[in-house]
Parts: sequence; structure tokens; C-alpha cells
Amino acid sequence: MPNKIAPQIFEATVRNIKDLGNDTKHFELFYDPGKTMDFIPGQFVSVYYPEPAGKVVRRAYSIASSPNVKDHVDLCLKLIPTGTMTPWFWTFKGDERIKVQGPLGKFFLPDSIDFDIVFVATGTGIAPFRSMVETLLPDGFKGKIWVLFGARYDNAIPYHEGWLDLEKKYPNFTYIPTISRPRPEWKGETGYVQTKIEKFFSDSTGKQVYICGLNDMIQAVLEACLKVGFPKEKVIFERYD
Ligand SMILES: Cc1cc2nc3c(=O)[nH]c(=O)nc-3n(C[C@H](O)[C@H](O)[C@H](O)COP(=O)(O)OP(=O)(O)OC[C@H]3O[C@@H](n4cnc5c(N)ncnc54)[C@H](O)[C@@H]3O)c2cc1C
Repeated sequence: MPNKIAPQIFEATVRNIKDLGNDTKHFELFYDPGKTMDFIPGQFVSVYYPEPAGKVVRRAYSIASSPNVKDHVDLCLKLIPTGTMTPWFWTFKGDERIKVQGPLGKFFLPDSIDFDIVFVATGTGIAPFRSMVETLLPDGFKGKIWVLFGARYDNAIPYHEGWLDLEKKYPNFTYIPTISRPRPEWKGETGYVQTKIEKFFSDSTGKQVYICGLNDMIQAVLEACLKVGFPKEKVIFERYD
């Protein structure tokens, strides 16, 4: 994979908006006919807010789909009711035109991967890992991959069915959702992601950890990883705040 792709500024059309629950939505940004954008899984796009002339307001959103998809990128957004960009996205019905710059960012895997990968995310921090996993597995990655994913509610886990399907299809892939406010019928893991590191990853041999989301969670997971013996350089993260 190339490690530097020049970013471009372009307009895209928003389509296929889906409610993922818990104030989170899936959006697809379609390129104009004949256009595409190369990117490396883990990179993000910067979306321009339509401010009056003279003031540029932009926000970063991780690409949640694989670069093998050529006509659009997926985004996964959490509504910040007091915010600027996300309330605007929440007015969308489909077919809106938005201005975007991308690809941007350096949160990606090395060209050659000689380790097993532990992805840890909460909320929309799952977006870059969906792009990575949906690229690595179909491309024939033979190492082990885990997705340890923290969500608040068991009936609002972004892309839950997709993760379960991947787990059925690829024996080297394990999906571990953990729920902080489960309903009584939830039979899976409960509690915060950081409390699962020791349970599932006490043997750090041959593994690297990638974490994405809000900084408090990242710091807690990093601490838990160091405690079980991961060297600091084997724990890589991207902060949203
Ligand atoms: C590299 C990168 C990738 C990102 N990818 C995504 C993504 O895939 N999906 C996504 O939803 N967001 C993502 N973000 C966050 C995103 O860029 C915005 O910060 C977020 O959407 C809020 O924008 P806003 O204009 O609605 O609110 P703002 O006007 O920016 O914020 C309003 C207030 O809410 C606080 N705030 C901002 N974000 C959060 C949050 N997540 N939780 C709680 N409080 C918050 C701010 O500190 C501020 O006080 C990413 C950020 C970075 C740096």
C-alpha cells in the first residue's frame, strides 16, 4: 500500500443514511461519476461546514469502509447536540452535496504485518477498524484479528451483524462486544473495554494493539495494556478529542 496519497478537495453526495441507535448514524459519501479516492484503511476525511464566506469550519471523520469500495466511503457519526457539524448531518435526508477533503491522517497499519492485531474501540471509534478489518480479511490476512468493542447499549452496537458475519466467515477473526449498560437478556461481555484487556490479552506475545476513540478510554486501555506487559510502542492510538 502507498504510504502517502495526496489529499484532494471534492464534493460528494450523501446517501443511504442509517440510524445505528444511541444517537449514532451511518452515512455514505458518493463520489461523482467517474471519480474515486484512494486511501489507506485508518485514514479520515475532513468535512467542510457551510459557513458564510471567510470562515472555514471543518471536522475530521474516520473512513469506515474499505478502499476496495470504489464509488463511496462510509462514515459513522455520533450526534453532539451542542455541536456544529453533527447537528447539520442530522438534518440530512439523502442527496445532500457536501465538500470534503481527503484522505488525511497517519493512523494505519504497516505495509507488512508480522503480528496479530487487537483493535479496541468505543462508539464511533470503531470506524477506522471497520475499514481495516474489511480490507485485511478479504485480502487474505492470515494472522489473528480481534475487535474488542465497547458500546453503551446491547441493542445499539454499530455494525453488530456485520461483525458477527465476519466472525462466521473467517476463523482468524474474533469479535468481543462489551456492554456498559446491558439489558438482562444480554449474554455477552459487560463493562468497559479496559477491564477486558487482562481477561483476553494477558499474553501480549506477537500482538499489537490499536485503539481509537475518546482520550479517557484510550488512556485507560493503554494503562491496562502496559499492566499486562505490552511494550508502549506496541500500543498505537488515534484520539477523537
Ligand atoms: C482523526 C479524527 C477522526 C474522527 N472521526 C470521527 C468519526 O468517525 N465519527 C465521529 O462521530 N467523530 C469523529 N471525530 C470527532 C469529530 O471530528 C468532531 O469532533 C465531532 O463530530 C463533533 O463535531 P461537532 O462540530 O458536532 O461538535 P463541536 O462543535 O466540535 O463540539 C461541541 C462540544 O462537544 C465536545 N465534543 C466533541 N466531540 C465529542 C464527542 N465525541 N463526545 C463528547 N463530546 C464531544 C467538544 O469538546 C465541544 O465542547 C474524529 C476526530 C478526529 C480528530
